[in-house]
Amino acid sequence: MSLYGVPRYRISRAISTFLRSLPRRCKHTSPDKVPHVAIIGSGPAGFYTAQQLLKGHPSVRVDIFEKLPVPFGLVRFGVAPDHPEVKNVINTFTQTAEKDRCSFLGNVTIGKDITVSELQKNYTAVVLSYGADADRTLGIPGEDLPNVLSARRFVGWYNGLPEDKELPVDLSCDSAVVLGHGNVALDVARILLTPLDILKKTDISEHALASLAESRVKQVHLVGRRGPLQVAFTIKELREMVNLPECRTVINPQDVASLKELINDLPRPRKRLTDLLYRSGCEPAEKDVKRWADAVRQWNLHFCLSPQEVAASADGKGPERVKFAVNRLEGPDLVNQKAVATDAVTDITCGLVLRSIGYKSIPIDSTVPFDADKGIIPNKNSRVQGTKGLYCSGWVGRGPVGVILNTMTDGFDTGKVILKDMEEGQLETTGKQGHAEVKDILTQRGVEIVTFSDWEKINTSESEAGKKIGKPREKITDVPSMLGVVKSKPS
Ligand code: FAD
Ligand code: NAP
Repeated sequence: MSLYGVPRYRISRAISTFLRSLPRRCKHTSPDKVPHVAIIGSGPAGFYTAQQLLKGHPSVRVDIFEKLPVPFGLVRFGVAPDHPEVKNVINTFTQTAEKDRCSFLGNVTIGKDITVSELQKNYTAVVLSYGADADRTLGIPGEDLPNVLSARRFVGWYNGLPEDKELPVDLSCDSAVVLGHGNVALDVARILLTPLDILKKTDISEHALASLAESRVKQVHLVGRRGPLQVAFTIKELREMVNLPECRTVINPQDVASLKELINDLPRPRKRLTDLLYRSGCEPAEKDVKRWADAVRQWNLHFCLSPQEVAASADGKGPERVKFAVNRLEGPDLVNQKAVATDAVTDITCGLVLRSIGYKSIPIDSTVPFDADKGIIPNKNSRVQGTKGLYCSGWVGRGPVGVILNTMTDGFDTGKVILKDMEEGQLETTGKQGHAEVKDILTQRGVEIVTFSDWEKINTSESEAGKKIGKPREKITDVPSMLGVVKSKPS
């Protein structure tokens, strides 16, 4: 039998294929079939995962939980205040948050206000994208002295992170040591050395600006355990340091002279970076030499030194010097050579030490697997090992490295994996109501949920406060004041 020459079996196969695809096409999917996804953390990983899910599925509902009343993670609290262009990603995140099928639930700490298991009961899928809220430590004597600070907390201090606003930062010394050769190390060094006239036009927090206005720090030593071929910072950030107004770059020519003959054989990004390191040490441009002659501040780049101890000042109120083992490099692959300590030692005098050797993720809920050695949630292609419907995205799944672009790719990949699992019928939708149920639980527990329109009130208030003093915004730096703005009536 056929209809207009098309065999009946073909017609019925086409009809059943169409019917199977209906839940994905139809805007009015039966409520029981609407997938609800909870995302934990509103940084780039959370927002890019949400964006992918909303784009790839016609009816999925996404709830983004954030422990702070304000969104955007390290885009707000990590990215340096003098890099405003990087923060433009906030516009894309805002478009995502404003979609009908997306909700922001701020001021909710997962693991404390509500558990991951409670979310799993109410959601088709749960995505852990809560970043890296701790830092690596060196485990050396003197690391806990006053004014020996983690760069992570110093960043939080100048960026207005509520938990770091009271960080006791003493800038009354001439010289600071920054341990580590990553981009965070360059960020904190740059903030210490940038003229105040530049900083005061940024969204740097007012308490940090006041402290930097009184700063006596004239010299910042950036110390890495390996050599110039292994630095983790990137060319744009190095160039900014070399071009910093009123500031001299000091790189010992002996440390970089041998790079000249290697530069041409290096792969592209490393080649340009190494060339700039070489030129800054051995063949600085005439304009730079002239500029550096009048400099009032300077930064020095030191290689192949591993910190062994931070020695206290006579009164014990802070560091006096950092003692280092001098390393040699070993291994056939130049860019991946390892540092090995020799018997030689040296030290650098300083009154402030910033440890910038990387961030670290921590477990937030005992029911979620966590690899303490690697500092990540163990996963395969974002699927958390051994737990169906549980995923991870961003730094908590991959480790605390990568710029926003890398985190975007990761967030998109996580979204695609979840969509695939949904399409293959791997995930449960029945009985999963999303935040309808969860909101009740949180309200009973006295949690004041901050919505995205509440955040917009905070946003407006910060922008208005900034405008009065010539800044793009003045961040509110404590949670009660943020909640106060949310509750205030419009003026
Ligand atoms: P995060 O951005 O850290 O987001 C995690 C979110 O989860 C946070 O909002 C946090 O509050 C929330 N959270 C944590 N615990 C909980 C919980 N229990 N419950 C609910 N929410 C929770 N990249 C660039 O491209 N350009 C730059 O200029 C740049 N500057 C940087 C500067 C610094 C100092 C740092 C550290 C990184 C910088 N990066 C930059 C890298 C970029 O910030 C990261 O790639 C990106 O932020 C990682 O995203 P994430 O979502 O995994 O983590
Ligand atoms: P990072 O890039 O991993 O750099 C960490 C540095 O610490 C490295 O130099 C590392 O040296 C050193 N280190 C680690 N353990 C050490 C130890 N025990 N002793 C001495 N030194 C040690 O980390 P990060 O600077 O925290 O940056 C995190 C990510 O954010 C990076 O991907 C970075 O690019 C990104 N970020 C980007 C920007 C930007 O784009 N402007 C700004 C800030 C951050 P080894 O190499 O020898 O291990």
